[in-house]
Amino acid sequence: MIRLFTLLIKFCSSNISDPEWFSIESEKICIPSYKCPTCGAVGSCVDYHHPYQRDMIYHTHDGEPIREKVSITRVKCTSCGHTHALISGNLIPYGSYSIHFVLDVLMKYFLRVSTVEQICSSEGISHSTLYGWKKTFLKHKELLLGIMKSMETERTAFINSFSGADAERFRSRFCFSFLQGKKGTLYETTNTGNNYQPSSA
Ligand SMILES: [Zn+2]
Repeated sequence: MIRLFTLLIKFCSSNISDPEWFSIESEKICIPSYKCPTCGAVGSCVDYHHPYQRDMIYHTHDGEPIREKVSITRVKCTSCGHTHALISGNLIPYGSYSIHFVLDVLMKYFLRVSTVEQICSSEGISHSTLYGWKKTFLKHKELLLGIMKSMETERTAFINSFSGADAERFRSRFCFSFLQGKKGTLYETTNTGNNYQPSSA
């Protein structure tokens, strides 16, 4: 997997929707500049491989959750032969929900604007998904800021300021992505109790 971090702006205060974010980063794909995550060769991931479809769940401008298929570009390394998906910075690897979506939901939760029941119902998520996101968010916030600074930084202020640049910084420092769970598959069940089926990233 190769992460794309072209847009370094704040997720929650930008007027860019998730489909727009995804499109902008897809249009700015610069194949020769990428380093192969497997063999480390730079500029060798030049052969386009078959793209695949995955779900992206995001909020419309009206705040409604919507699920849409997006096409993920893949490249093949001419040095080692491995294929790599190019994952936009607004997506969480191995999951369906966009970073912006999760941050929006957590913001509602931390501000207590609605009950947990109401939030889960309107967002179409289970309680365990919400609490799983909260747990991962707090853990990753602490990783990024350090324990002391994390304690001093309000959760909502952190969400408001969190940007593509922060997501890139997190990924480069810890080698996994912000809000990505272990194996990437946990914390995603619908409110109907169906087990989330992981999509390949
Ligand atoms: Zn390679």
